[in-house]
Amino acid sequence: MDVLLPRSLEEALALKAERPEAIPLAGGTDLMVELNFGRLRPAAIIDLTRVSQLATHHQENGDVFLGAGLTYAAIVKELPDFKPLVQASRSVGSPQIRHRGTVGGNLGTASPAGDALPVLAAYDADVVLRSQARGERSLPWHAFLRGPKKTALAADELILGTRWKRLRGPGSFSKIGTRNAMVIAVAGLCLVVDEDGRRVNVALGSVGPTIIRASQAEAQIASVMGSSGAWQDPSTTVPDQAIDEFAELVASAARPLDDVRGTAAYRRHGCRVLARRALTWSLNERRLPTWL
Ligand SMILES: Cc1cc2nc3c(=O)[nH]c(=O)nc-3n(C[C@H](O)[C@H](O)[C@H](O)COP(=O)(O)OP(=O)(O)OC[C@H]3O[C@@H](n4cnc5c(N)ncnc54)[C@H](O)[C@@H]3O)c2cc1C
Repeated sequence: MDVLLPRSLEEALALKAERPEAIPLAGGTDLMVELNFGRLRPAAIIDLTRVSQLATHHQENGDVFLGAGLTYAAIVKELPDFKPLVQASRSVGSPQIRHRGTVGGNLGTASPAGDALPVLAAYDADVVLRSQARGERSLPWHAFLRGPKKTALAADELILGTRWKRLRGPGSFSKIGTRNAMVIAVAGLCLVVDEDGRRVNVALGSVGPTIIRASQAEAQIASVMGSSGAWQDPSTTVPDQAIDEFAELVASAARPLDDVRGTAAYRRHGCRVLARRALTWSLNERRLPTWL
């Protein structure tokens, strides 16, 4: 097996153009598992860890760009304002995994249980890709994630990162597993409130073949908050019945399966509980806006 060691993005893209069969390696926390279990034996690996351009983040004209090579540990340290992303990052694996694992790797693996993915879906993020031959292109998260472990990445492309419009409002990420740490989610949920767009975005992980947005629930709660005056005045109480209806609609958006980690019924129930909690936290936070 050839191990290719580019030192810049240009060099990495040139190598990918020359050797489209070469598999990129970021933290290796997914890829090395495949190699160690003998499920994958690529002819070549392109190790991206020396490509510093991938491990950056910046904000411009209200947009946030998160480089594919940023590790979860770096996100926790450097992006404290992005609470749902930080909460998801903190929930990944162990400190060792968080120091190696990257959001680009989470996107590349495209597991329905990838913890960064519901956050990117709730932010309505685009995935930014580049090839030497065709340059850069951006795809909405749902066009990039084509199915379980399937993406729209072309053989000569690399993931540069992900970009989204910065939203003003509270939000959270939470997940259910068989224990509190080092656990693959049985169900995961990210909820973000967009105060300016008067929307509540909800994305679910681990309860379908890929990440799911609960659009009916989003429409229901945005409308209740409109008719009750809660958008204008955060101290307005949103009736419990509306919160229950919202949680029910989120649960009905899930498309779970029975597997070794949990039954479909448990997963759906988990979504209901996570949705109720996440909405309640955000409504409470709107009354004491720490996110401003
Ligand atoms: C013990 C353990 C615990 C874990 N716990 C969790 C958890 O709690 N939550 C969770 O979501 N995941 C978890 N994972 C999975 C893994 O850590 C994450 O999916 C992580 O984000 C992968 O990132 P990486 O940089 O290590 O990816 P890698 O293993 O390097 O790569 C993964 C895939 O992405 C591709 N890729 C990476 N970067 C690029 C790029 N720039 N361009 C194109 N393709 C690219 C690779 O070719 C490969 O196909 C765990 C893994 C282990 C081993």
